[in-house]
Amino acid sequence: MPVTTEKKADPVVNNSAPTPAPPTPQLELRDIHKEFNGVTVLKDVSVQVAHGEVVAFIGPSGAGKSTLLRCVNYLEVPSSGELLLEGKPAVAVASKPTRQELIALRRQVGMVFQGFNLFPHLSVLRNVALPQERVLGRSKAEAETRAMELLERVGLANKADARPTRCSGGQQQRIAIARALALDPSVMLFDEPTSALDPELGGEVLAVMQELASIGMTMLVVTHEMSFARRVSNRTVFMADGAIVEQGPPEQVFGAPQHQRTQRFLEAVLER
Ligand code: ADP
Ligand code: MG
Repeated sequence: MPVTTEKKADPVVNNSAPTPAPPTPQLELRDIHKEFNGVTVLKDVSVQVAHGEVVAFIGPSGAGKSTLLRCVNYLEVPSSGELLLEGKPAVAVASKPTRQELIALRRQVGMVFQGFNLFPHLSVLRNVALPQERVLGRSKAEAETRAMELLERVGLANKADARPTRCSGGQQQRIAIARALALDPSVMLFDEPTSALDPELGGEVLAVMQELASIGMTMLVVTHEMSFARRVSNRTVFMADGAIVEQGPPEQVFGAPQHQRTQRFLEAVLER
């Protein structure tokens, strides 16, 4: 950059190009506090998630990971704090979501749980199509076309006509992922999606998640799969006792944890 004489007089002026404002996070949790019957389980937790970011949440049982994730789609209403999507509050009065706000929020934020919660009396295809018809008002034909696309993506097109009970646990979880994706969410939440599965079946679910991450889906993943967190997340957040203890790139959190609490946790889980 050429040196200008004009601005030289003022030592405070920074002559380099102005720093662009940081991009608005796609999702932000601001000071989320949660109590159950007077017992605090989240202590003013704040998290910002950028577009396309994959954030893994790790930590001991009871740390508040699931509760935090559930606050993101208001399955739990925070006792205080705010949830912002694209910089705007998702809920006008954070402690009192309206029905419309909940519907809008859950269209944007898909969730996959440990249990699959598929309808046993419906075919795999109908399990993925029905929510689209109910929530998005898609026609049956439209919904089933989209369902087939997604079943193909998770490698289960050949199970479309089967009942979920004829599918393995890993297949059922992949159907649950397809069902969530069918509503075209912009953020996906995963709460220990493989913890009910044998390692081999868990692996096929993790592969689908990794594929989703690679195509740029914004994901918040609570997981006990340390190798997955390390390999796939852009950021790993370690939580204990209702708070974030530390966070950073996975190579830092796993390779050089700063806090004793993190070190103790990682030693315990990685030794297993
Ligand atoms: P994690 O997912 O990290 O294991 P949770 O978010 O499930 O932790 O739980 C954090 C704490 O909140 C735990 O002490 C748990 O017992 C408590 N908790 C979670 N959900 C409820 C609830 N619905 N009612 C009362 N206590 C709850
Ligand atoms: Mg949990």
